[in-house]
Parts: sequence; C-alpha cells; structure tokens
Amino acid sequence: MSGAEDEYEDRRISEELLRRERRDRIKVKDADDYKVVEGVLDSRTLMVLYSLMKSGHLASLSGVVKSGKEARVYLGKAASGGDLAVKIYYAVASKFKRRIMYLEGDPRFEGIKRGPHALAELWARREFMNLKQARDAGVRVPAPVAVRGNVLLMEFIGEGGRPAPLLAESEVDRGDYDALLRYIRGLWRDAAIVHADLSEYNVFKWRGELVLFDFGSSVDARHPLALDLLRRDVETVNRFFASRGIDVADAEEVLREVLGRCRPPPGPALAAPSWSGYPGTG
Ligand code: ATP
Ligand code: MN
Repeated sequence: MSGAEDEYEDRRISEELLRRERRDRIKVKDADDYKVVEGVLDSRTLMVLYSLMKSGHLASLSGVVKSGKEARVYLGKAASGGDLAVKIYYAVASKFKRRIMYLEGDPRFEGIKRGPHALAELWARREFMNLKQARDAGVRVPAPVAVRGNVLLMEFIGEGGRPAPLLAESEVDRGDYDALLRYIRGLWRDAAIVHADLSEYNVFKWRGELVLFDFGSSVDARHPLALDLLRRDVETVNRFFASRGIDVADAEEVLREVLGRCRPPPGPALAAPSWSGYPGTG
C-alpha cells in the first residue's frame, strides 16, 4: 500500500470509529430497542440525536411509539427525567412530492433547498414553528421543545410511555365539538395557520382536554389553498362528530364564524403555486 492509501485507510477507520462511538452513546433501554434504533436511523440522524444529547435536550431514547407516513415517533427522556416525544422525519425520496406540495405557497419557506435530507429537516422545522405559533395563540398542542436536523422534540402527551387516547378512541360530547371549533378559530385568527390534516386521529383527548397534534402539514393562512384546507378540516371534524350522534353546525356556517372579519386572510396576497393536484382538494 502506498503512503497515501495508508493515510486514506487510517482516516476511514477513524471516521468509522468516531461514528460508532457517537452511535453507541445513544443510550437505549434494551437490546430490542437498540435494534429498532439502529435499524432505521441513518448515521446523520444518529449524529443529530447525539448532538441533542450533548446539548442537554435529550437524555435517552427508547422504543418506537408509532411509525407514521412521514415520520416515526419515539419515546425519549428529558434531562429532567420527564417524557419527550421524539419525532424523526424520514429522509426518503419517495416522500418528496407530497412535501413539496405543502411547502410551495408558504411564504415562510421561500427559496428552500431541495433534496431528501433538506426536506426532512425543513419538515421538522416547519412542524416546530407551527406548534409554537399554535401554542402562542393559546391552542393546546404538545409544547415544542427543540428542533435539530430532521428531529423534533416535544412534550409527550400521555402517561407511562403510552400516548394519550386519540379522539377517535374516546367518548366525545358537544363540549369537545365546541372546543375543537374554538381551536380551529384560534389557529386561523391568532396563529394564522390552518392545521390542514385535522381529524379524530390527530387530536388526543387527555384528562378531559383536547390536544391537537401532527402539525407537519399545517399551512400559513396566506397559502393560496388555505381556505380550501380550512373547509376540509371543518368538514372532517363535522363528519366525525355527526357519526357520534352530535348535532353539528352547517360547515359553511362554521367557516363564516371562523373567518369573521378576518377574510381575506392576513398578509400579502401570494402568487398561485406552480403545481397541481394538492391532496384532497381535487
Ligand atoms: P400519521 O401518518 O399516522 O398521521 P405522522 O407521521 O403524521 O403519523 P403523528 O400523527 O404526529 O405522525 O404521530 C403519530 C403517532 O405518534 C400518534 O398517533 C401518537 O400515537 C404518537 N405521538 C405523536 N406525537 C405525540 C406526542 N406529542 N405525545 C405522545 N404521542 C405522540
Ligand atoms: Mn398523524
């Protein structure tokens, strides 16, 4: 081997050792969890987790809570000992198209980088911002804790490592319906966003209170399709409560009430987006 090759090999080995060392510092509860963590997380994500541990945001990571379409949610522990939900967005090319559709038209994300990693990171950041805006507007959501790379840390809603029951799994009453409509209005008027994926599967009912989550698809109120998405959210919520025997209000009536005098939505008008086929809007 030539000197240059030796040097290359040395560097490769030391990089590999560094990588393993970092990986191994991600403490996991037991062998099964370890396999889960190792099997699905790429080295880049492991680095991000390591960095969140080093900065004191995350003490440990245990098993998967749930794998979704866009992300996988893990149970984590904060340095303080409390539970955290650790949402890790997949950096997979096949998830691209849907994401780009949601991003274009959102003025907060002009001039974005493309590529699977950049988009997974952007998606995490976007959910973090949406959670923050919602929370600042007084809407009950998991409190956002930190975002780095494709990893989002937030308050864990639930107990003993088990997520709270979904609205879909809970008894509901008129009060829940009214509360959800109030939240929809709060999101529009005070947070200037539309959830855009609202359903009985993205709301927890926890200790008698509703907690909205999964804000990765939420759009700015200035998005050209914001009103359509708002209407779709209201219709989905109405359909669910009607199926539970609750006497729901007319969707257009609800929309008028939500919009109030805040129509057109706040902010400068935007150019129409360059894509078509937005999911669910035809
Ligand atoms: P889906 O494709 O099912 O919509 P997703 O990838 O969009 O999933 P979320 O809906 O945000 O991800 O979360 C998926 C699941 O992870 C939830 O149904 C819930 O069980 C759990 N989860 C998410 N956020 C939290 C949280 N803050 N606290 C507790 N559990 C959570
Ligand atoms: Mn969801």
